[in-house]
Amino acid sequence: RTVFVNGEFVPEADARISVFDRGFLFADAVYEVTAVIGGKLVDYAAHQARLRRSLAELDMASPAGDDELLALHRELVRRNGIDLGSVYLQVSRGAADRDFIWPPAETGPGLVLFTQTRASLESPEAERGLRVAVAPDLRWGRRDIKTTQLLYASMAKSQARRDGFDDVWMTENGFVTEGSSNNAYILTQDGTIVTPSLSRSILPGITRSAVLHGAAEAGLAIEERPFTVEEAQGAREAFITSAGAFVTAVVEIDGVRVGDGRPGDLARRLRRVYLDEAMRTAI
Ligand code: PMP
Repeated sequence: RTVFVNGEFVPEADARISVFDRGFLFADAVYEVTAVIGGKLVDYAAHQARLRRSLAELDMASPAGDDELLALHRELVRRNGIDLGSVYLQVSRGAADRDFIWPPAETGPGLVLFTQTRASLESPEAERGLRVAVAPDLRWGRRDIKTTQLLYASMAKSQARRDGFDDVWMTENGFVTEGSSNNAYILTQDGTIVTPSLSRSILPGITRSAVLHGAAEAGLAIEERPFTVEEAQGAREAFITSAGAFVTAVVEIDGVRVGDGRPGDLARRLRRVYLDEAMRTAI
């Protein structure tokens, strides 16, 4: 694989990051993952806008202008021959002597991009639907910023896997916040799509925004409000969204089957509509 590290395209084996990079020492870094379908970037403008917001929230300098970032994505996709997969972009505050105080901006942000491939738009997991565990949300209080501080989500998902689940939904004050790396939804028995409203407690998913937009256009009822694990277990359907999973049904929550235990009609329809739209608008 060719990766992009601090100004250069290099073979991954030759890529070098300083041991003093603050992304490495403090998780002082933000990231984006953009899906690639048919060699094109899905919802790229929205990912770029969220990156800008993450950088601004952390007072972090921008590593490059909009045109340049887009060109880097495209060039990396081209060099690695990615048809189906993703581009990972990370901006760190850069390398500086280890100190809790942010170094002056002149240190310069560190920019890294790499690609990942995926075999297919479908997966056995998506066909079958996910079984999710439930765990307390012990992440920090600014989950709206997409930082590389992913240890708790990684820990909770690993524990869920060890316990035989596919993923984990996290809860705070009795309500579901989101999945380990995805936004969470239910379809109530009376046909309303429910998902937590945006706040500092969850990441404003790019796929969330696209799917809610599509659902609203289709005239579906949507409520952005908290829901509990019990409400989700008694719902007609449950599902998640992310740039990696698109729309994927959840068929079991903490050992309780949702609906008939198979991916629901709405989740399957939203997945199809989302993928059609993603392919149509990818750049
Ligand atoms: N929540 C969290 C915690 C995530 O890590 C992700 C994936 N980055 C999402 C939600 C979904 O966001 P997106 O649709 O932009 O991939």
